[in-house]
Amino acid sequence: MNRVAAPELIPRRDRGALRHPAKTYGKSIDGIPLLVYGTGEILILASIHGDEAETTVVVSEALRCLPERELRAGVILCANPDGMLRGTRGNARTVDLNRNFPTSNWAPDAVFYKTRANDTRDIALSPGEKPASEPETIALIELIERLKPRAIVTLHAALACIDDAGHSPLGRQLAARCELPLLTEIGYPTPGSMGTWAGEQGLTLVTWELEATSLYDLKDHHVPILIDLMTGRIPCTS
Ligand SMILES: [Zn+2]
Repeated sequence: MNRVAAPELIPRRDRGALRHPAKTYGKSIDGIPLLVYGTGEILILASIHGDEAETTVVVSEALRCLPERELRAGVILCANPDGMLRGTRGNARTVDLNRNFPTSNWAPDAVFYKTRANDTRDIALSPGEKPASEPETIALIELIERLKPRAIVTLHAALACIDDAGHSPLGRQLAARCELPLLTEIGYPTPGSMGTWAGEQGLTLVTWELEATSLYDLKDHHVPILIDLMTGRIPCTS
């Protein structure tokens, strides 16, 4: 059996800096550049919800372990910088970007969220004035249309599951590696979500929901898996 060699990691003393070239793919409402690092078959994105900053920290740590030649993915560390600076799930206009995508089921009604699996979904946000009303949503769509990734992996917290409507090989491998349950739906309606939009475009999108645990435990568990994903050691297909 052919074993894939482990990726070459940069020395620990050099892991403080992000050395990969970044491209600006748009700007937030507050004018913060939206950045994507690297390029490849997979697009990995964190913090489309601004109150899920642990996803940014974990993805950044994996990225900072990798020399440029090992990176085989596009990586967005923060898809919603205005929300992260405010500590809010929504963006600067209180829009849930993950309900703002132009899908057949988008609706203008308020959307409700919860932060942990057993909470009640009772906090209201706007899905936007219309589908793709927000600059962060438009920029992401244009980036995906330009990069044409074979798969998109979007990190969230803290529902502790892998959600993959298409039950793709990638979703199954991530669930097995993360030892998280593989779901084909999250259990409540998500009109205007990026996942629904991707499905309607025929794109594979896997939602990676981290556990509700300490940031240190999240790093220990997920950074090695993210490194394998970023270096093509977890293929999009099987
Ligand atoms: Zn989320």
